[in-house]
Amino acid sequence: MNIALIAHDKKKPDIIFLSQEYKDVLAMHSLFATGTTGSKITEATDLKIHCFKSGPLGGDQQIGARVSEGLMDMVIFLRDPLTAQPHEPDVNALIRLCDVYEVPLATNRNTAILLLKEIKNLSNV
Ligand code: PGA
Repeated sequence: MNIALIAHDKKKPDIIFLSQEYKDVLAMHSLFATGTTGSKITEATDLKIHCFKSGPLGGDQQIGARVSEGLMDMVIFLRDPLTAQPHEPDVNALIRLCDVYEVPLATNRNTAILLLKEIKNLSNV
């Protein structure tokens, strides 16, 4: 599966926790991330991640383009709804595209855990 990982700044500790906790299952898939999220996960784990641009510089749109091309199978996007984001239109556009193409999308940690547990079950690790 192609899995995209994105977290707003206040949620970066959560995505690092998730990637450490579910490292074994994530390592079995192709991972993509926005720039800062991807580099922080790489620092904290030895997961190989293809990093797009940082979110405010277009990374969310790059991932959205993959979703629209049928090239992304799951998106974990830990969103911070309490902080205004300079690229809010891009954030909303990515969420919209996941719904348009019925791509599984987690926007908070507990939904992400449910999805990761499911792919762990499917992968039998
Ligand atoms: P970042 O982008 O991983 O480069 O911080 C995430 C976002 O703000 O959408």
